[in-house]
Amino acid sequence: MRHRFEISYVGMERTLVRETPSRVGEKVKLLGWVDARRDHGKLVFIDLRDRSGKVQVVGGEELSDFKNESVVEIIGEVKKRPEKLVNPNIETGEVEMACESAKIISKAKDLPFSIDGDGLEIEEATRLRYRYLDLRRDRMQRNIKVRSKVTEKIRSFLKARDFVEIETPIISKATPEGARDFLVPSRLQKGKFYALPQSPQQYKQLLMVAGFERYFQIVRCFRDEDPRADRAYGEFTQLDMEMSFITQKDILRVTEELFIEITENVLGKKVLQKPFPRFTYEEVMKKFGADKFDLRDEEQKKDPDLLALAWVVDFPLFEQTPDRKLGPMHHPFTAPKDEDIPLLDTEPFKVRSWQHDLICNGFEVGGGSVRITNPELQAKIFEILGHTKEEIQEKFGHLLEAFQYGVPPHGGIASGLDRFLMAAFGEPSVRELIAFPTSASGQTSVMDAPSQVDEHQLKELGIKVDVKKK
Ligand code: ASP
Repeated sequence: MRHRFEISYVGMERTLVRETPSRVGEKVKLLGWVDARRDHGKLVFIDLRDRSGKVQVVGGEELSDFKNESVVEIIGEVKKRPEKLVNPNIETGEVEMACESAKIISKAKDLPFSIDGDGLEIEEATRLRYRYLDLRRDRMQRNIKVRSKVTEKIRSFLKARDFVEIETPIISKATPEGARDFLVPSRLQKGKFYALPQSPQQYKQLLMVAGFERYFQIVRCFRDEDPRADRAYGEFTQLDMEMSFITQKDILRVTEELFIEITENVLGKKVLQKPFPRFTYEEVMKKFGADKFDLRDEEQKKDPDLLALAWVVDFPLFEQTPDRKLGPMHHPFTAPKDEDIPLLDTEPFKVRSWQHDLICNGFEVGGGSVRITNPELQAKIFEILGHTKEEIQEKFGHLLEAFQYGVPPHGGIASGLDRFLMAAFGEPSVRELIAFPTSASGQTSVMDAPSQVDEHQLKELGIKVDVKKK
């Protein structure tokens, strides 16, 4: 037997909510969710929501068991509302639909939480467990849709400037960005591991050796870091770029133009200062006591539409690690300034580098550098960082080898997409910009991971787990 719903579903073309104001006097069919219901006995009002907006439906008893968030089909005539009943708060506020026939396609249970407000008062674990419901709220719909517009702009902007979008491997070898790696055991070579990339750093440099000259990728990066509000646990998205035959000025210029374009023409917000102010690391440490800072004054901070973007340059090449050793301030591929190279052996902490960081409203939203392209200098930096000759060969031999076949001078930058949008929207965490984020404690949304795996899977991988099962 055919279901009633199927018959009418195919019978009449669907109209989107946003089209209703231009269909006054016509009979249309709407499909969507019950956003709200107001029951006045004989008269029942429903706000129907679809991907394009919300519209009021007026009907009678046939709507009285239409529960919130159920998926419904409504057929009726679009009517102009009398002047005094116009609702200026919604796009379709000048019209309403007089229900002629209505049907529940899929009935919704009571939701575990309200999706009316911004949802920030609800316990995050609950929001993430039911993320598909949490994403129905207006704020989350806006965040995810704006993000899609931003990536569209990034692609068109960079492609118009000769950048090539290139994917790099996810299952690969560790590349150091200063965090812990996520490891993936190999089944074919038991006892060996892949690492998920902390960034495509070495691949993008190899792409410069390969002659592409201008690369970008909107790419997932994986870092097993301890949770922090301005970072997502585990994975996050970067706009990764690399260019050949450039200086630091060129990298800053194209990045700056792109961020102004996104801020003004996609987000509809304002940039506090153009061109972005540039500070040296020494200046910001003196002035703000940190390499992240907010250039807005207290009044400006109240304005949600103002982005204070700025550059920091002239970083030291090395920093002291927590165990008092020498570590790279950015990563080991960052070039030292020529005039400071003689200090490498004598006073390494005084060596300045070609690193650049992009700051937005108090957050570091991007970082990059001009790279080392001289294989001897690169090997020397690895040695200073404490790697043995064998380790260098094992971990980075491929890069040093590649640099012996004609490497153009190059450099680049990676900007945190989630992080920039978090700063731009003043959201409390990057997770508000990610459809299915992992919680601060490392629990995935909706699906219950990490979780145990079957014994035979472990056996295939040659792995014995040395923790008690809970
Ligand atoms: N790979 C660097 C990072 O993820 C960015 C860069 O140097 O281009 O921070």
